[in-house]
Amino acid sequence: MEAEGGAVHPSKGTICTAYSSYRTTGHFNLSQFDIECYKSVAEKMCKESGVNLIYHMLFVGCDTENGKVTAAYYATQAGIYKISAKVFVDCSGDAVIAKASGVEMQYGNEEGHKQSATLFFTVTGVDKAEMDAYMIPAETMEKRFYMDVIKEARAKGEFPSNRAKIQLFEAINGEWLVNMTQIDDVDAYSSEEVTAAEMEGREQAVGIIEFLKKYVAGCKNIKLSKTADQLGVRESGHIIGEYVMTVADAVDSYRYEDSVFCCSNSIDIHTPNGVTYVARNTNEPYYFPYRSLIAKEFDNLLVAGRCASTESEIMAAIRVMPPCFAMGQAAGTAAAIAAVDGVKTKEVDVPKLVCTLKKDGVYLPEV
Ligand SMILES: Cc1cc2nc3c(=O)[nH]c(=O)nc-3n(C[C@H](O)[C@H](O)[C@H](O)COP(=O)(O)OP(=O)(O)OC[C@H]3O[C@@H](n4cnc5c(N)ncnc54)[C@H](O)[C@@H]3O)c2cc1C
Repeated sequence: MEAEGGAVHPSKGTICTAYSSYRTTGHFNLSQFDIECYKSVAEKMCKESGVNLIYHMLFVGCDTENGKVTAAYYATQAGIYKISAKVFVDCSGDAVIAKASGVEMQYGNEEGHKQSATLFFTVTGVDKAEMDAYMIPAETMEKRFYMDVIKEARAKGEFPSNRAKIQLFEAINGEWLVNMTQIDDVDAYSSEEVTAAEMEGREQAVGIIEFLKKYVAGCKNIKLSKTADQLGVRESGHIIGEYVMTVADAVDSYRYEDSVFCCSNSIDIHTPNGVTYVARNTNEPYYFPYRSLIAKEFDNLLVAGRCASTESEIMAAIRVMPPCFAMGQAAGTAAAIAAVDGVKTKEVDVPKLVCTLKKDGVYLPEV
């Protein structure tokens, strides 16, 4: 993607650039990419690897028999489409296959609260020179996130969101991404709630743009370019799998016998009252166990992504894109081993899985 001009290498998106939202601590080293370039590169890679892609299919149900998922059904314009497979990998974010199969699930945290959702939007017309002139000399993170400005606007009733910070990221096509709307406790399984949340997000976007124009350096002439195609759901249901990864595991960087990748995102929990962070006891990366991808009730069902088997608090960290990619790779590799070796997903030879992942480039340092 970088070669095609569709991505910024992380080394260039580092601290105090518009790509990193001018952060100097925490969540920087962002790798911005162009969405259209991503689509074409991803499709090319799938074609080259022999993946049979089919879009426009909505999962609507499945069959199970003797501890196995035997078929999944999808609604298409041509009617209901049936897929049979030796092993299923549910990467739906919401664990829709696992849920329909009757796998034990937890929705949100222990009290059932889901982390807040956001409808991203993009704007054009940011005056980058003006924004740089304000941001680059700014010394405190409060100023870089315009927290003082928010306070002032909120006192006048002119800040239309519950967020505590302004998060504007430069994209690579002249647009800027705005991560600022907040819609709380949305049930991602309810079409009514998701629709209402998307409408609420679009309404908030209009007010946020008015606020940005009036209060934020470089934003006087911005225009809404696009709101996201769908609501950004941070949390819905997680399976209770063979192992439930805990926040304590990550805090102490616990190394499991079946670790399949490692990751390092901060543990940032989005609540209605703002983002809270869980401190870790070490700067080492933390690990993710294969067992947290296994639906314990079935011999041939894995999940990957934010619906993996973890406590809600650590889902806040492993839900980001790099761990989700790594989970997909681990689950896909395990599914292939299970299918070829004719074994249950629980019986996959873990050293063989880890060795294959490492051979395919997964970073898993020895300890
Ligand atoms: C507001 C917000 C900000 C974020 N910021 C960052 C960030 O800065 N950095 C970062 O790395 N990550 C970030 N993330 C996290 C990241 O984008 C997602 O959490 C991650 O993509 C989740 O991956 P996933 O594979 O589990 O699910 P998804 O990427 O949501 O993929 C699930 C797929 O399954 C499909 N699907 C669902 N149900 C069905 C069905 N019934 N039938 C057919 N298909 C179905 C969906 O259409 C979708 O294509 C952010 C997320 C949000 C919401």
